[in-house]
Amino acid sequence: MEYDFDLFVIGAGSGGVRAARFAAGFGAKVAVAESRYLGGTCVNVGCVPKKLLVYGAHVADDLEHAKGFGWSVAQANFDWATLIANKNREISRLNDIYRSLLVNSGVTLLEGHAKLVDPHQVEVNGQRFTAKNILIATGGWPQIPDIPGREHAITSNEAFFLKELPKRVLVVGGGYIAVEFAGIFHGLGSKTTLLYRGDQFLRGFDGAVRTHLQEELTKRGLDLQFNADIECIDKQDDGSLIVTLKDGRQLIVDSVFYATGRRPMLDNLGLENTGVKLDARGFVEVDDLYQSAEPSILAIGDVIGRVQLTPVALAEGMAVARRLFKPEQYRPVNYELIPTAVFSLPNIGTVGLTEEQAREAGHKVQIFESRFRPMKLTLTDSQEKTLMKLVVDAETDKVLGAHMVGPEAGDTIQGIAVAMKAGATKADFDDTIGIHPTAAEEFVTMRTPVRTT
Ligand code: FAD
Ligand code: NDP
Repeated sequence: MEYDFDLFVIGAGSGGVRAARFAAGFGAKVAVAESRYLGGTCVNVGCVPKKLLVYGAHVADDLEHAKGFGWSVAQANFDWATLIANKNREISRLNDIYRSLLVNSGVTLLEGHAKLVDPHQVEVNGQRFTAKNILIATGGWPQIPDIPGREHAITSNEAFFLKELPKRVLVVGGGYIAVEFAGIFHGLGSKTTLLYRGDQFLRGFDGAVRTHLQEELTKRGLDLQFNADIECIDKQDDGSLIVTLKDGRQLIVDSVFYATGRRPMLDNLGLENTGVKLDARGFVEVDDLYQSAEPSILAIGDVIGRVQLTPVALAEGMAVARRLFKPEQYRPVNYELIPTAVFSLPNIGTVGLTEEQAREAGHKVQIFESRFRPMKLTLTDSQEKTLMKLVVDAETDKVLGAHMVGPEAGDTIQGIAVAMKAGATKADFDDTIGIHPTAAEEFVTMRTPVRTT
């Protein structure tokens, strides 16, 4: 049978754009449908605008530190509307770049909601298209638990477009988005409380990292409330919100920001017209080749709920394009040792096993740890400390994990991830000459383990 397209991609986000462009580059006839914004979550309401706001919040630190270096800064004023307008201008520039990238690589761009009609047919804006393969790359969407008054809460989607910076904000959740936005709001001047249901936020991160960040955020004046959850939210006549906690306490704030995870975006996608199956958590179930239960339909990125990070969606998109249209270049995505950063203030960078995971996996571990005041802060009043930690297999000397909390932690850990991918041992780290004076050199100068167990 003749199809309109070899590949029809639903969603022009990180994964979809990568798959579409590369498939077209390999000679396939490709269409991509996008209902909302070119570049997807990362470009519009994720990584990019988030990092711009984090930079904005960090300026508060720089202004504070300036006097230690002899600068006197007149009364500094912050204007949220300017930051948001400038951010919007930059995002719109990126949207145009994404449009050109797709069009110039020969991809047919269809702007509208795509719905599956059958395993080989998609409808967009009332028009039907047939395709040999269909790729679902529709990403995710924030989810707010079903509590009374949830309609008064916002998520990251809305936070990027608020007209005003809330004076008092309650951030709910203890994952990436919660700690990043707590840092943004606090840095920009909101009175910020972070509310997390468990004992300690950032579940899954190394214990020392979690404790260190907790200490640093507390030093900065963020109000951290652990073992706390919301019962209901009520709006008052003056627009403020009364938040009642499960333990009966009440807080009055101007905004409640929920960051309690993301669900797969499958709304009105027409999955019922196909044999695609969902896994127990509701994400699209795929095999190692991103093939769903319906042979002609594949899925990648946040919608499959494996690792919700842009570079992972990019790698999956590339793998699909290669396997379908350039099989000789196909390489499976390697999910081992994925480095990641949390752009809290200070930042976290991490790769490999945490101390807890290494022990659980049966390794005898040697722990190297260093806490120090970064040189840049020695002339300032800031008492912020940087943490660096290496988890080493005591028997093989292999570095199993590297963790950092401090300025530019992501940039530092990216390089260490390359060494760990190459199988570096602690002896390799020790043999590496440091770059002086940097913070990163600490990773190659930690000589004495703090413990071996
Ligand atoms: P998306 O980028 O979400 O793209 C999906 C696209 O599909 C969207 O454009 C959507 O409009 C479109 N779509 C959905 N349904 C349809 C339909 N039926 N028809 C047509 N189009 C449709 N990751 C990092 O690596 N680093 C970070 O710093 C980082 N920060 C983040 C900050 C926030 C606030 C959030 C929310 C996420 C962040 N992420 C970060 C995660 C990252 O954004 C995602 O992992 C990544 O965007 C997933 O890419 P994707 O292609 O799977 O989906
Ligand atoms: P996460 O999964 O990281 O965190 C969700 C948080 O919400 C957890 O602390 C979880 O607690 C808590 N939670 C979940 N359900 C409830 C509930 N019903 N009531 C109260 N608390 C709840 O999700 P995020 O929304 O922060 O981010 C989504 C994903 O996007 C991230 O996992 C990450 O992959 C990606 N991302 C990456 C970034 C980066 O690379 N810098 C930045 C932002 C997002 P518990 O731990 O107890 O389950």
